Amino acid sequence: MRNLKLLPLTILLLFFTTWAFGQQRPRLVVGIIVDQMRYDYLYRYWDDLSENGFKRLLQQGYVVHNGHYQYAPTLTGPGHSSVYTGSSPALHGIIGNEWYSRQEKKRVYCAEDQQANTVGSNSVEGKMSPRRLTATTLADQLELATNRRSKTIGIALKDRGAILPVGFLNDGAYWYDKTNGQFITSDFYRKTLPDWVTKFNDQHLPDQYLEKPWTPLLPMERYDESLPDERPYERPYLNTEKAVFPYDLKAISQIKRFGAGETPYGILLASPYGNALTAAFAKAAIEGEQLGMDSITDLLALSFSSTDYVGHQFGPYSVETQDIYLRLDRELANFLDYLDNTIGLDRVNIFLTADHGGADIPGYVSPPSGYFKTGDFEQGLANHLQEKFGMNPIEFFINEQIYLYQQDSIDVGEIEAEIRAFSADFPGVYGIIPLHDFGHCATDPRVCEKIRKGFMPARSGDFLVQLYPGWFSDYYLKGGTTHGSPYAYDTHVPIIFFGGNIAPGDNYDPIWIEDIAPTVSELLKISWPSGATGKVIGGVLKH
Ligand SMILES: [Zn+2]
Repeated sequence: MRNLKLLPLTILLLFFTTWAFGQQRPRLVVGIIVDQMRYDYLYRYWDDLSENGFKRLLQQGYVVHNGHYQYAPTLTGPGHSSVYTGSSPALHGIIGNEWYSRQEKKRVYCAEDQQANTVGSNSVEGKMSPRRLTATTLADQLELATNRRSKTIGIALKDRGAILPVGFLNDGAYWYDKTNGQFITSDFYRKTLPDWVTKFNDQHLPDQYLEKPWTPLLPMERYDESLPDERPYERPYLNTEKAVFPYDLKAISQIKRFGAGETPYGILLASPYGNALTAAFAKAAIEGEQLGMDSITDLLALSFSSTDYVGHQFGPYSVETQDIYLRLDRELANFLDYLDNTIGLDRVNIFLTADHGGADIPGYVSPPSGYFKTGDFEQGLANHLQEKFGMNPIEFFINEQIYLYQQDSIDVGEIEAEIRAFSADFPGVYGIIPLHDFGHCATDPRVCEKIRKGFMPARSGDFLVQLYPGWFSDYYLKGGTTHGSPYAYDTHVPIIFFGGNIAPGDNYDPIWIEDIAPTVSELLKISWPSGATGKVIGGVLKH
């Protein structure tokens, strides 16, 4: 309230008039997506969480305990799109992080846009836009509801985590350019970086983070919720020996090619400092864009990407993963205090969720889980079909989906029979789901429904290779975990609403991720995103 003193009386009167009509509306909505955060982490790490981070949300917020993704593939692009469109890939079109485009005859990336140009660096990291999204988001609807007087900003290290949530009408999306350690955007949004972004970049925080080795936040004995630090199935950073603390990030960053085509600043993605950088940038955005400073509701779509990189690298039971969550918890506590001091938490609505969960490591629970030999399957199937038909009818294989050439020389039914014959004994394969004919989806009906909600006729393949629960690609034999399946470990995520006039509560009913956007729309009294299929979670609004 201290800003009020500075306002002339007339504006004060106007403010109270607006407030009287719109008192249910928050000044700022902050959507927080924690990349790859499983629901169980909240409780697994409970004893080591601070009082004011996740615990504050859990104790003072409205907590959905049984919140799930209702589709597969459970991946980052689809996840971020679904949260903000209140929909599923079937309607918003983001059927994967990448998929095969029959029209363009190539693999395409969900946020790529060859027509767009990078703003803020000379790299190609900014050739991005939301153009492949086929539905509007919460940001679009808020902008429409306020005749574009709202400020809506998307922020993440991952471009897709920043771009997809804020859709088409917004005030900007910013992501991390790993070639130079700076936040950038694309000319889809604007021609030059705003001053506050340039000022932020000029601090060169990534260089400072690289100077700090990554050591555990707490004494090592406090990490008894995780397995000992040195274990098999944790993947060392590229060209390093062991996945053990402490990590000299500077030294690792100087090893040539930390990851395919990556540069020194790439290492920060897979460390807690990536989240620290994101939080610092979020505060700069609030200040720079004056988010939440007037009575017209603004939206900050914030995504913490580093938890996903670390999860992929070290797996769910590693000290590294626990450490990044404990550090994120402290970041969150600090961020909540910041919001309280600048805007007031009574005027902010926050929702927190994840874009997907993550699998247990088959190396620790085998049987029944295991590693699917993706390359062997693809090659073996191609050979098998070549032998049977004198040609390979498969145009592309991605996301465990088979795309057939659109040709008439071989009957699709015969191809399907041969795919089934080849797959029957292949380790890890449960069955083949024909994507254009869900009447013949011969697995658990709930799984069929999830696959169907992840399917878009114009973009998806012809058949899906369904794996048994607990199975994933043998790429991770090197260590770490992944996600993408229709099973609970990938679909079960936290969903928490907090702040403003949201009363504390616990909800144990099944809730789908597509319910978030309609619920937030109802909190704001705005119309739902164009493809929304979810429902309002009534409890969030009852107080
Ligand atoms: Zn991931």
